[in-house]
Amino acid sequence: MRWSKILLPTLKEVPADAEAISHILMIRAGLIRKLTSGVYSYLPFGLKVLTKIEKIIKEEMNSKGAQELLLPAIQPCELWQKSGRFEALGEDMITFRDRHKKLNVLGPTHEEVITALVKNEVNSYRQLPLILYQIQTKFRDEARPRFGVMRSREFIMKDAYSFDCDTQGLDVSYDKIYEAYCRIFKRCGLNFIPVEADTGIMGGDASHEFMVLADSGEDKIVKCKKCEYAASLDKAEILKIDTLKYADDFQEYEEVKTPNVRTVEDVADFLKKDIKQLVKTILYIADQKPVAVLVRGDHEVNESKLARILKTSHLEMAGQEVVEKVTKGPLGFSGPVGLIGVDLYGDYSLQGVKGIIVGANKADAHFIGVDIDRDVKVSQWADIRNITADDKCPCCGQGIDIQQAIEVGHVFKLGTKYTKSLGAAYLDVQGKSNLIIMGCYGIGVTRIIAAYLEQNNDDFGIIWSKEISPFQALIMPLNTDNQEIMKEAEDIYKLLVDENIEVLFDDRDIRAGMKFKDADLIGIPMQVIIGEKNLAQGIIEIKLRKTGRRLKVESAKAAQEILKLLDDLQ
Ligand SMILES: [Zn+2]
Repeated sequence: MRWSKILLPTLKEVPADAEAISHILMIRAGLIRKLTSGVYSYLPFGLKVLTKIEKIIKEEMNSKGAQELLLPAIQPCELWQKSGRFEALGEDMITFRDRHKKLNVLGPTHEEVITALVKNEVNSYRQLPLILYQIQTKFRDEARPRFGVMRSREFIMKDAYSFDCDTQGLDVSYDKIYEAYCRIFKRCGLNFIPVEADTGIMGGDASHEFMVLADSGEDKIVKCKKCEYAASLDKAEILKIDTLKYADDFQEYEEVKTPNVRTVEDVADFLKKDIKQLVKTILYIADQKPVAVLVRGDHEVNESKLARILKTSHLEMAGQEVVEKVTKGPLGFSGPVGLIGVDLYGDYSLQGVKGIIVGANKADAHFIGVDIDRDVKVSQWADIRNITADDKCPCCGQGIDIQQAIEVGHVFKLGTKYTKSLGAAYLDVQGKSNLIIMGCYGIGVTRIIAAYLEQNNDDFGIIWSKEISPFQALIMPLNTDNQEIMKEAEDIYKLLVDENIEVLFDDRDIRAGMKFKDADLIGIPMQVIIGEKNLAQGIIEIKLRKTGRRLKVESAKAAQEILKLLDDLQ
């Protein structure tokens, strides 16, 4: 491919709305262009990477006996109502009414559609087990699309579904796909870790997320410093910690004025107390019913844990109106003392604590010297907060690290959640009807590119691995007016193309300095530099993008040398 013929527009400037390095590089190196918020076009260079990743995915999935199919993006909303997820996905779902006034969904995922298909086509144990997958565009109306293709409203996913007779069968399918995923991410050049994860709105028993460590990642994971334990924050179980003791252990709690200080930090500053001595009272609406949650001032509520405890799939933070109605006080001054008509859920770290500070359920006031057992009616103690770096590993009790990460894959043991609601059953050997046992498995295909770029870049641009790079070699004649240089470049180009190497030929009539800059920006693993001085001595220079290593080779042997070097490249 000649650069003068490919649509590969590189940019010197950092685009104004791009924060994450992967987003910046994808725009600057001409992989994508934004159409509107959270919606991107893939230019030829970007599409080449995408196609390579898809090829790896297909090879690894096929090697595990999975079969590719293609399901529709347009789905009738009745299917989603039957499975009970129409509500749960809420505003994330993109819906439209067709000309017959029927409501449709643009598929955010395909559990419903595939289960409906399998219900009709599979009816005997002889047809099981079955693993089906597709690579397809998904739609989600993200509240805050950001970081380019990392969180977008339209994205490409590989989604797979396994169907088995029993849970032992599901375990086998799950392990197969888990293995395939490890191979896929490794071949894509990602440094990843699988972590135990929450099953969330998907339902089901077990789940793992495949996480790529990166500072721009929107997820956090917990990793033990000592053992193999790794989990998502939603899943990480917290070992009980000692109850903190405070001097303000009064006979009775007292009211203090806290004018215009609403946040825990401000209240702690104002009262000159440690933030840990404060207790946050946060109101949620779970299935239309208000509940109150108590966590220590320095802790954060984990909404997935809370949803699990409340057994709800519909949880949201209460707005001002609800807070005022329930607490009779303004937002920012809620507290648990005298709070009636709502269930109170307290985090384990607050059990038995005395001398704490809470909101007084009235403007500009807090209570100090509160004894939680004496003054507060907690309905249930539970693990409802995010684990922190001060907590211990739930497996071995040693220290933990909390790191930012990007989720690139997720596997679930679903069980019968969908086959039950949609009625997908099979007849066993005895002719008895049983529900099919399901698993589902996703990979964010477009997100793999972003995750890869977060981990593989330097000050000059992208560093592609050989396996997913759009081209393996870049031929750079430094002066296109020089006939000898161009002849040499054309000869090498032809020889490499004949060997089925994907080569980009920078035939643009631009300054050598710009060619060097662009070459490092677009990150093709091998740069073949043909310049006047070297060529006069019969020499060609080869630069390896990843290591910066430069080699001089005889021009007559250049193509052979390049082939050899490419063989050794990762
Ligand atoms: Zn551990």
